Amino acid sequence: MAIRRILTVDNAADLAVLKQVSTPVEGVDDELRALMDDMLVTMYDAPGIGLAAVQVGVPKRVIVMDLAREGEEPAPQYFVNPEILTTSEDVLPYEEGCLSVPEIFDEVERPAKVTLRYLNYKGEPVEEEAEGLYAVCIQHEMDHLEGVLFIDHLSRLKRDRAIAKVKKAARAA
Ligand code: ZN
Repeated sequence: MAIRRILTVDNAADLAVLKQVSTPVEGVDDELRALMDDMLVTMYDAPGIGLAAVQVGVPKRVIVMDLAREGEEPAPQYFVNPEILTTSEDVLPYEEGCLSVPEIFDEVERPAKVTLRYLNYKGEPVEEEAEGLYAVCIQHEMDHLEGVLFIDHLSRLKRDRAIAKVKKAARAA
């Protein structure tokens, strides 16, 4: 397992990759599991609670997530070719952040409940309901598969400010 570099929006080449639409995966094999293992350790190292493959420069429809709280046992989840089947009318506003937009947090409103279908780590099809933080996180990560960042949901002013702030922080580092 290896920690990979996370692409960030302050870098023009990284941003071009983050804007790509990820392609579906043909099936879950050992090579894909190795990618998911790398993604998980990269996410834990960051640390973060969700990561899409495109964020480590691999534009495939793969997501890893772990919503366990501090002190709880790790609970990694893997999503291959995830699809949202239904979304609720009611929305949940949540202050989101993103490993590709470091240190920026802002409120985004998304459907409070979704049903989704995906392949798990073993390649088995799963269909389930997500709500609360799970719903927020899976929708945020699935946006990445379409080349959409959470700051794209903000006003243009807020988005430009966020990118300027990340650039400034990167220069100072
Ligand atoms: Zn993100």
